[in-house]
Amino acid sequence: MTSLAARPAITTTTHFINGAWSEPGGPTFPDYNPFDDQVVAEIAAGGPAEAEAAVAAAHAAFPGWAATAPAERQRLFLKAADITERRRAEIVHILAVESGCSAPFAHFQVQWSVNLLRQAANWGYLPVGEVLPSDTPGRFAMAVRKPLGVVAGFTPWNGAFNLAWRTIALPMAFGNTVVIKPSEEAPVSAGLLHAEIAAEAGFPAGSLNVVVHAPGDAAAISEVFMASPAVRCINFTGSASTARILAERAGRALKPIVLELGGYNPMIVLADADLAHAVDATVFGAFFHQGQICLCTRKVLVERPLHDAFLDALAARTAALSCGDPTKASTVIGPLINDRAVRQVAARVEEAIARGARVVTGAASHGRVYEPTILADVPRDAVVALGSEETFGPVLVVEAVEDAEEALERAQATPYGLSAAIMTGDQDRGLDLAQRFDTGIVHVNAPTLVGEPSLPNGGVKDSGWGRSGHYAREDFTEIRLTTLNHG
Ligand code: ADP
Repeated sequence: MTSLAARPAITTTTHFINGAWSEPGGPTFPDYNPFDDQVVAEIAAGGPAEAEAAVAAAHAAFPGWAATAPAERQRLFLKAADITERRRAEIVHILAVESGCSAPFAHFQVQWSVNLLRQAANWGYLPVGEVLPSDTPGRFAMAVRKPLGVVAGFTPWNGAFNLAWRTIALPMAFGNTVVIKPSEEAPVSAGLLHAEIAAEAGFPAGSLNVVVHAPGDAAAISEVFMASPAVRCINFTGSASTARILAERAGRALKPIVLELGGYNPMIVLADADLAHAVDATVFGAFFHQGQICLCTRKVLVERPLHDAFLDALAARTAALSCGDPTKASTVIGPLINDRAVRQVAARVEEAIARGARVVTGAASHGRVYEPTILADVPRDAVVALGSEETFGPVLVVEAVEDAEEALERAQATPYGLSAAIMTGDQDRGLDLAQRFDTGIVHVNAPTLVGEPSLPNGGVKDSGWGRSGHYAREDFTEIRLTTLNHG
């Protein structure tokens, strides 16, 4: 077990603008450990002035960064990957004390980030355009991909470390400079650590800038990003409700906005599925990071012949998950991020129970640790069963269905369109059903939550738009038509 005292305290707590840390001494706000309420750091409380300085620095750095040779960008990204790898133990610890992240998910976040940085190192060598036929004799036409300019990113607290790297590395790999505003719930894991790593790796001043802020000040900072002509793209990961506010504002500013939002991700288990594999995929998909990941499974639809055996095996596995202090290596389920999250989860579970749902396991909390919970016999219109409502916690609804058609119909009853999964012994059938899902992601014989940085994760409908991996080139570059008349 890694004890809290054995780790160095968090020291980086101020903004990182134009390659320098801002001076301490201004207003601060406390950054709490969600498990025990200890203050882990006092963080600088930034506002519009810092946001403006960060945008100006990114704007000034843009021409230089856009012109940086691919070999140099590659060197910097590889160095950032090595530093991230070297600092693994410390990052895992900070993720635990700042965001309640258990060791397995924290290690996953670090490895995902290292892999992403090593892949992004090569994206500077992707082709930058095409030569196009022209109807005009003597005309040579080229579609040339250019970076956009300054990309302003909003990072979330849930996959704080890896999603912040995604927010930073994707636009930067294609030649954009970046300003990020980390979530106030986990500002160190969701941005300040990245600035430390980028600084040590030697990224040029202004290419990455981080502005931290107190709860309640997100909108004031976001307004600076929206109003600034230098900011050419908004890159948001978070909830659909905040995304609607930002997308409306970005629309008025005519700025493109990339949105990685939530989901109500269903899993279908057909009667011919491998039971043990389906149970493993469900436990992982539903309860990893306490169900606080946009790709988590919210509902499992099981063909009736397998339903009872599946539910029994799932209940046994779930009840055995170890809950508690995320700094203990044995803990699988840590705390939810804050009291509001616990209240929302508890209220929705209670509402379902009051209306006749059966608790298969869980439905109790210990401080902010909410036990992984499985509900059966849930009325279709209970909030936890509604595809329109993402319950961001460890709550899973299990329903019996008569056949795959009924499962598909129920699984699709959601305005979200992020991920889905199908478990079956018949691969052809699985692939056939997969093609009928209206989601950005669908997995056959794997959980709804598959995390590989090279893959084009992303949603449709209320889950947003934009894709990760090198597919992000579509989002973070624009095409300039260039013609040359000759002869
Ligand atoms: P979650 O509910 O998962 O915390 P949010 O959508 O609230 O997701 O937060 C994601 C990011 O959006 C965070 O960086 C947060 O500070 C920011 N944010 C939240 N509300 C606003 C707002 N009204 N304007 C701008 N940014 C916001």
